[in-house]
Amino acid sequence: MKDKENYHMELETFRKNGYAAIDWVVDYLKNVDSYPVLSQVKPGDIRKQLPESAPEKGESFDAMLKDVTDVVMPGITHWQSPNFFAYFPGNSSPPAILGEILSAGLSVQGMLWATSPACTEVETHVMDWLVKMLDLPEKFMSHTQGGGVIQHSASDATLCALLAARERVTNGEVNKKGGTGKLIAYTSAQAHSSIEKGCMIAGIGTENLRLVEVDENFSMRPDALDEQIQKDKDAGLVPFFVCTCVGTTSSLALDPVAEMAEVTKKHGLWLHVDAAMAGTAAVCPELRFINEGVEDADSYTFNPHKWMFTNFDCNAFFVADRSALINALSILPEYLKNEATNDGAVFDYRDWHIPLGRRFRALKLWFAIRHYGVEGLQYHIRQHVEMTQQFKQWVIDSEIFELVVDNPLNLICFRHKDGDDVSEAIMTAVNQTGKAYLTHTKLNGKYTIRMSIGQTQTEMRHVENAWALLNDAAKNV
Ligand SMILES: *Cc1c(COP(=O)(O)O)cnc(C)c1O
Repeated sequence: MKDKENYHMELETFRKNGYAAIDWVVDYLKNVDSYPVLSQVKPGDIRKQLPESAPEKGESFDAMLKDVTDVVMPGITHWQSPNFFAYFPGNSSPPAILGEILSAGLSVQGMLWATSPACTEVETHVMDWLVKMLDLPEKFMSHTQGGGVIQHSASDATLCALLAARERVTNGEVNKKGGTGKLIAYTSAQAHSSIEKGCMIAGIGTENLRLVEVDENFSMRPDALDEQIQKDKDAGLVPFFVCTCVGTTSSLALDPVAEMAEVTKKHGLWLHVDAAMAGTAAVCPELRFINEGVEDADSYTFNPHKWMFTNFDCNAFFVADRSALINALSILPEYLKNEATNDGAVFDYRDWHIPLGRRFRALKLWFAIRHYGVEGLQYHIRQHVEMTQQFKQWVIDSEIFELVVDNPLNLICFRHKDGDDVSEAIMTAVNQTGKAYLTHTKLNGKYTIRMSIGQTQTEMRHVENAWALLNDAAKNV
């Protein structure tokens, strides 16, 4: 309710409401497994419960919270449910949520170092921590020519990599004069749609993105890449950018980055590594095979907002040569000029990404890392991988299901032996129970069920339950 003098929420009222909001979230997370994982509403069901126009008179916080419970909740798909096995993990954690609250409380604009020095320095520091935690190459650390920055999403990171590569290969010409349509980018036929979208936005053009053939494990073939680049060069085109994927969205396939790097070095192309989901695995030394070849990458990205217990949005983006990125994205209008920027003594992160403004996203990642410690993160990543490998063994031993690709991390791709229709019917039936949620892909044209394990509260019993649901459903289709 508005308070006496004006329309603001009085701070003591805010305190009280804040406690109520936290109570609400704690109760939600305690009971999250009691909701149907996949929202069961029909299009328009939520909107038709909302008033036609904004209220003329301010309302109470109690009324708002009540509507979240009554109106919003049925329309929520519960990503934080321990029975969420769809797409990829989008996990979160109490320390990250608390960091998010503090970030909102401070509500600073971190576009320049000068607009809130701590916003930049904590971020730079946590990015350096990540390099060490994941054993990434030192050239991504801020004391070298490179550095890391938090982006909104992996899609933004890949777009920024494309722009940096574009300006490097043309000496800044495209920024000044626009493109000539000759620049050619490469990625695997299994790559994420964000690379295609990046090529649309960066003015490369989807026809100038080559989808390179993959092998039987859905990994990009270095020989096919090499041949395609040579062909394009011979045709007078300008190959400039390769995006390799460490853990594709469809099947978590790993491109052989070290072999790709041989090709990009030979032809002088920018090598970008998209490890959006899988990157977090490198916190465990025994899973660092995913980093093979990364020492030769020009840029690297992964999403703490997928598997590192940090709520969306929080993408980590690293470059080996930050000047390439800054040259592509720097602007300095009069109203942003200041001493620290002029001296070159600081990072101004507005030059490292698309928007000008930026919020204090490092806080939630900093809190998550500090709460768990490296040891705690390793423990949970190992649990997720172990549960996945256990599930995989059940599929291998099953009379009715079969494994489609073998994967060493936290995704199982499998199907029913009787084919597409049966596999689809089983998955649909399981999702309709509301007791688990899985999604599918197509591999070699065949309908494939994906089981992705990585939510914060997921335990072995939830994985066992999902397996039982799949087997039950198989009996009834
Ligand atoms: C999820 C994913 C993306 C996109 O991530 P956003 O942060 O949502 O843009 C890109 N690449 C891969 C391999 C992914 O798994």
